[in-house]
Amino acid sequence: MLTLTLKPHEERRIKEGHLWVYKDELAHAPAAEPGTLVRVCAQDGASLGTGFYNPLSKIAVRMLACEVELAETEFFTKRIRQAQALRDRMLPQEEGYRVVFGEADLLSGLIVDKYNNYLVLQMLSAGMDSRKPHIIEALREIFPDVTGIIEKNTAQTRKKEGLELIDAVVWGSVPDVVRFRENGLDLEINLATGQKTGYFLDQKINRRVVGSLSRGKTVLDCFCNIGGFALNAALGGAAEAVGVDSSALAVEAATRNAEINNLANCRFEKANVFDLLREHVQQERKWDIIVLDPPSFAKSRSAIRSAQAGYAELNRTAMKLLPPGGLLVSASCTQLVPEHDLLDIIYRESARIRKRLRLVHRGSQAADHPVLLAMPETQYLKFLVFEVAGNP
Ligand code: SAH
Repeated sequence: MLTLTLKPHEERRIKEGHLWVYKDELAHAPAAEPGTLVRVCAQDGASLGTGFYNPLSKIAVRMLACEVELAETEFFTKRIRQAQALRDRMLPQEEGYRVVFGEADLLSGLIVDKYNNYLVLQMLSAGMDSRKPHIIEALREIFPDVTGIIEKNTAQTRKKEGLELIDAVVWGSVPDVVRFRENGLDLEINLATGQKTGYFLDQKINRRVVGSLSRGKTVLDCFCNIGGFALNAALGGAAEAVGVDSSALAVEAATRNAEINNLANCRFEKANVFDLLREHVQQERKWDIIVLDPPSFAKSRSAIRSAQAGYAELNRTAMKLLPPGGLLVSASCTQLVPEHDLLDIIYRESARIRKRLRLVHRGSQAADHPVLLAMPETQYLKFLVFEVAGNP
């Protein structure tokens, strides 16, 4: 096996359980086939374990968190079973959930989502991409109920690994539209046209929270995608739940989901949330609950400032629409903006417009998106619920 040696003093993070070796931490980065299994050693020659090497990527080695001689079907079967065992324990009986969450399941670069009898794969590293047949074989063994597997390898980050973008059925057959139950709702998602792997599974528990707070309330779900929060609010007895998204396909899917579930207290519209919130301020409209669940605003450090400005504007405008007793439900999936920064932004904006907010609930990503403590990169979702206090 090819051995790569780290520069002096670069072994600490890896010893403490981080799974990425950056290219500039290697003493020498030899040419090799992307995805080659290598051993990584400290400068003194002590082995730090094995991983997948990609000389084309800034993340040169993705460690496998133990000594692996052969990363083939048996290895994947074992590790994916461990991931599934965690889901069985934490989120049993779910029809839609993330089976494998990359690094947090010690499978850096691999995402597997299950929607009923179908699996959706994302390989974000050359190591995982080149082991596709083994991964598929392992999944077929673990999930005898699965009748089709599709790869949605459309994430732009694949380019950083020298990988092409591909969207294709890799085993069995997969219809464009699949159904699964979540939080008592029948959800239909479109695997052909949907975003990411078709649905945002990480907000499952947070949607329940919003559902439980919605009885008799008016609820505005901003960035609703296929309807997640608004549908939960409607099922929870909202007086009126309105979802807004800039994607016509998302709005169409959300509308269809309201129909499937016979939810007449729910509707969806296509709009830019920033514009819509401003219009509602001008019209002096009020909502009892406003949910903000925007897409990631910063993928790289250079975008952090504009992301912060985006959160400031969104949250400030939403607060203006909330009467005393109203709830601001503010989510953020930008990994580079940690919870304390988001809290600080929301506090500053509330102070600017003289609103007193009380933090009444905080959540994060569901347990099928676990956080590996050694890798802060695996913690990304913030979910904060504030109540607007009345004037004394
Ligand atoms: N709340 C959703 C997930 C949101 S994902 C759920 O529970 O499943 C973010 C969504 O924001 C995407 O559907 C995307 O189409 C939408 N979006 C991005 N920018 C937008 C904008 N400026 N205005 C409205 N929607 C936007």
